[in-house]
Amino acid sequence: MKKNIAVIRGDGIGPEIVGEAIAVLSAVADKYGHTFTYTEAPMGGNAIDAFGVPLPESSLEACLASDSVLLGAVGGPKWDSQPPANRPERGLLKLRSAMGLYSNVRPARVFRDLADACPLRADIAAKGIDFVVVRELIGGVYFGEHKTETVDGEQKATDIMAYSEHEVRRIARVAFDMALRRRKRVTSIDKANVLDTSRLWRRVVTEVAAEYPDVELRHMYVDNAAMQMVRDPSQFDVVVTENLFGDILSDEASQITGSIGMIPSSSMGEGTRGLYEPIHGSAPDIAGQDKANPIGTILAAAMMLRYSFDMAAEADDIERAVDETLSAGLRCGDIWQEGTILVGCREMGAEIRKRI
Ligand code: NAD
Repeated sequence: MKKNIAVIRGDGIGPEIVGEAIAVLSAVADKYGHTFTYTEAPMGGNAIDAFGVPLPESSLEACLASDSVLLGAVGGPKWDSQPPANRPERGLLKLRSAMGLYSNVRPARVFRDLADACPLRADIAAKGIDFVVVRELIGGVYFGEHKTETVDGEQKATDIMAYSEHEVRRIARVAFDMALRRRKRVTSIDKANVLDTSRLWRRVVTEVAAEYPDVELRHMYVDNAAMQMVRDPSQFDVVVTENLFGDILSDEASQITGSIGMIPSSSMGEGTRGLYEPIHGSAPDIAGQDKANPIGTILAAAMMLRYSFDMAAEADDIERAVDETLSAGLRCGDIWQEGTILVGCREMGAEIRKRI
């Protein structure tokens, strides 16, 4: 198969971790006889320096013309004083909206060899933690009207949260489709005892569930879900929720797994093209020192193969190589513990590659 991947290396540790992910992708291409071509698409602070804007038109076009986009991370203190409309993160928001990415998927899985990194009690972690959070990405309160006005001599701020049926239906389908490939359990999270948007959400998700008789659906209030996620995360398979709740719960879910450097994410819209990235930022404190953990980005590349290119065996191969590298005791600084072997970003990438 031939695939064209747009590559956004970004800022800080971005170029280091993306370099390792591309090297792993190239190893997979060699082994399975695929041809991956990489088109550079500058975005973020480096694009502000070179082009004056965080997302040059040429980069946007390269992403829209690609089969999928691989992203490191953008941003850093150098660009913090940019006006809000020209900050590195603006490039990312513009890209997400231009690509019509309405779903964000983050797996939360505790790696067998990193069980000690899980902050939950050992008996809770031992039950197994392996679920995904499917978050609606371009609706709800983040995209509603925001205003601050003076009323009766004091300031009053309002943020509007809105959802239409079609927005709920399409994200629900993403969750149910994903559940079909997993343990066939969807937990839909809302606040239907208080919010109208949640009552609409619950009704539409229940309607969509009727199209998936093999998948079990259960509804849960967001406050309870936040508690259940630390009390017994083994009960979750696919969690689906709206933008604001998903923002918070997906961070909680990531924390459970122990390290921010290990977790990939995918954002998708209609069709098979997606944006794949690690969940962490550009880590300016360790940039350029060969200290970054590339595993989150390498697993993001595996997600790209699985979900956008329908290459399940190739994705399994990468995930197995990561597991075996961890089993061999190799660790980057963020997950290093007494008795394990400390390696840098480049060596971690090479060790994973050699197990493909
Ligand atoms: P961060 O995720 O970059 O870093 C938080 C901490 O985790 C740091 O101590 C960092 O060294 C460590 N860390 C992160 N990734 C790591 C990895 N792969 N290996 C080892 N250690 C790792 O968050 P921050 O410091 O709040 O943000 C830094 C910059 O990144 C900011 O400009 C922020 O806006 C940007 N950011 C970008 C994205 C994105 O591009 N999607 C996401 C979040 C933050």
